[in-house]
Amino acid sequence: MTTVVDESNSGTRFATTPGAPGWRWRPDAGGDVLQHDALLALAPHVFTGRAWRFTTEVERDYAQLGRMFGVAGADVTRVKQVHGRVVAWVRPGGAVPPGTGADAIISTAPGSVISVRVADCVPVLIADRRHRAVAAVHAGWSGTCAAIAEATVEAMAAEGIAPDDLVVAMGPSIGPCCYQVDSRVRNAFLAMTPDAAQWMIDDGVERWKLDLWQANVDQLIRAGVPVDAIHVSRICTADTLDRCFSHRAEGAGTGRMAAAIQCGPGTATGATRAREGSVRPRPAARH
Ligand SMILES: [Zn+2]
Repeated sequence: MTTVVDESNSGTRFATTPGAPGWRWRPDAGGDVLQHDALLALAPHVFTGRAWRFTTEVERDYAQLGRMFGVAGADVTRVKQVHGRVVAWVRPGGAVPPGTGADAIISTAPGSVISVRVADCVPVLIADRRHRAVAAVHAGWSGTCAAIAEATVEAMAAEGIAPDDLVVAMGPSIGPCCYQVDSRVRNAFLAMTPDAAQWMIDDGVERWKLDLWQANVDQLIRAGVPVDAIHVSRICTADTLDRCFSHRAEGAGTGRMAAAIQCGPGTATGATRAREGSVRPRPAARH
């Protein structure tokens, strides 16, 4: 469960490198949150850690999450995550009805905050360099198999937000070092695309290690996102239990981590304060 693949033996594709460039844990009043510099330049965002659980006192945790962005907890958009390919939209003046089943949210409403919850599944946050939209994606094995990240980029592209204007950050999630799957999962992926074989390595009889990070990176690239605009934290939840929750390592009763992002500069406070004195994202380069 907590084996770390030796980089020298496995090649970089399946290696675990906690703390990839640009990622930093930042102390917040509620506990440490993770951010990526390139995404922060475009949009306030956080990946929460173990200080929040989002299980027992959910509304209290959303209230704390909302405070980091200057909004009420009830105004942090969330969906009923169903491990599929449905994308929900938040448009100016609109909202996602409570209980909506989806695994990705796109917002074009300035100031709005959208979020997903994970505990091993891959949280993907996306911002547009031109500040027109942001997205939050929940990609477990099933959602990854349904290409939810690709569907999200395609949905944005259909509304004129070009994939090569996007910057993507993938937060802590179970890594290829720890994510063993069986033939049911492998066959589901192979039925989706023959490319899936390259996301798995043999791990015993009828068992494979699945690289959800690379699967999502490859989908994003296929959808047109530049490879150098995709930032993977490479923090494996099962190997980082001091910071993260892991369903695989700790069981179903463990907590959840939120990934949240705000459209436009908004009125954010804590969620943008990555460096001294900075309470807003840096202005984006003009195109
Ligand atoms: Zn691991």
